[in-house]
Amino acid sequence: MRAEVVHELREILGRAGLISEPGRLLTYECDGLALLHERPELVLLPRTTDECARALRVLHREKIAVVGRGAGTGLSGGATPVKGGVVLGTARMRDVLEINAVDRYARVQAGLVNVDLTLAVEELGLFYAPDPSSQHACTLGGNAAENSGGPHCFKHGSTTRHVLGLVIVRDDGSVLDLSRPAVDPVGYDLVGLFVGSEGMFGIATEITVKLTPTPAVTETLLAIFTDLDAACDSVSDAIAARLEPSALEILDKLTIEAVEASVFAAGYPKQAEAVLLIEVEGAEAEVEMTLAELSRIVKQRGAIDVRRARSAAERKKLWAGRKGAFGAMGRIAPDLYVADVVVPRTKLRELVAATTRIAREKRLKLANVFHAGDGNLHPNISYDRRDADEVARVLRAGEEIMRVVVAAGGSLSGEHGIGIEKQAAMSLVFGDDDLRAMCRVRDAWDPEHRMNPGKLIPVHVCREMRNAERPR
Ligand SMILES: Cc1cc2nc3c(=O)[nH]c(=O)nc-3n(C[C@H](O)[C@H](O)[C@H](O)COP(=O)(O)OP(=O)(O)OC[C@H]3O[C@@H](n4cnc5c(N)ncnc54)[C@H](O)[C@@H]3O)c2cc1C
Repeated sequence: MRAEVVHELREILGRAGLISEPGRLLTYECDGLALLHERPELVLLPRTTDECARALRVLHREKIAVVGRGAGTGLSGGATPVKGGVVLGTARMRDVLEINAVDRYARVQAGLVNVDLTLAVEELGLFYAPDPSSQHACTLGGNAAENSGGPHCFKHGSTTRHVLGLVIVRDDGSVLDLSRPAVDPVGYDLVGLFVGSEGMFGIATEITVKLTPTPAVTETLLAIFTDLDAACDSVSDAIAARLEPSALEILDKLTIEAVEASVFAAGYPKQAEAVLLIEVEGAEAEVEMTLAELSRIVKQRGAIDVRRARSAAERKKLWAGRKGAFGAMGRIAPDLYVADVVVPRTKLRELVAATTRIAREKRLKLANVFHAGDGNLHPNISYDRRDADEVARVLRAGEEIMRVVVAAGGSLSGEHGIGIEKQAAMSLVFGDDDLRAMCRVRDAWDPEHRMNPGKLIPVHVCREMRNAERPR
């Protein structure tokens, strides 16, 4: 990049807002999908919408690619600058701008860490419901771009149900203010369109989100199984019985062992083949009825024990184990590939078995921890990226898992997005006409395809190949 351009950007953002030293750029060469990396030319860290807009105007003039980044916890390579260019991060945009407890919304900067919003409003008897397991690090901007889920999204719905408004800086530096919190928006739902757009429609700088009242009662159960199939079948039964717990999460034996050997140890019994973590919230009578019914279902399916958290501290510990599970897998191998697929919930047992078989055939270690209530499987494959043969087997296993799931009526991603990981696999689910329609929507937001290029839409469909050949 020309020195004058770097100078101009530094004038806009200040010294702390621009990173150009090669060593510091390393941090930004990938997200949580460490299989693929590419170092950006520059990292920009604006503090306000105005700084972001001015920087994007320069990048537009210079035809430089821009990759948005929150905390880099994404697991599909979304924030990886595969086509080079500039990474634009929101790490210095973490303010809570407005809390309205009466109308129950908050307006925040996009770099606010997910859990910090709940911490800011809990004294008002409110919380922010979507709770990715990475919530202590990931940002609301990243959540909106990925339409993230989380254990409690089973009851509350994923991010798209909670984003009311956005301020977006577009590819050319113009600012689109869609921040008015309207329950029933008129006109095209541009906010809905942006959520899940994986950084390809612009940079969200401010987000207005719905706040949810803290439930009167929350109870947590841990059902212990000597058989993973039985845990899966319990979830299918609970869904069929029309029960509405707020979370239904399964952890298998390998996950339990990793968690219990880590700082996240939650007291999960090591001899179990699987545990099912259940949470129920609501009014007391309703919670007790649902718990009784769920206890009956898991016992009927062979649970050997059902434990109820006796205090808030015990409940927190059970969840710390679940939410720390991916991190704990660092005890199994240096690297982790977190697959993310969604399956019909009547087929949980069948597809968990299929993923286990695929991993076994490829001589890979697979641990399962997943949002079972949503049918969202996370077959986690531990590997060592220094072993090229093992890496190739991991990639093949990932592809096979997607094929098996799609053939059974499932889909490519429950929550981690497509990014670069699943770009080619989009053709398993969508025809070229569908993909071309997506391309046309992208064209409307970013005609030059400079925002997060090389993601989501398979290259053969889009004009992207042609654009990539244009001089930057
Ligand atoms: C341990 C662990 C547990 C996880 N658990 C869950 C889970 O339970 N549920 C779940 O859904 N995901 C989960 N994830 C995945 C990840 O945390 C989510 O996808 C999260 O939303 C990413 O947020 P981020 O701030 O880290 O975004 P990044 O990884 O930095 O970016 C993700 C995508 O969003 C784009 N982006 C980021 N900020 C903006 C912005 N302001 N404007 C426009 N585009 C932007 C990027 O370009 C990229 O495409 C987990 C990840 C880890 C490591």
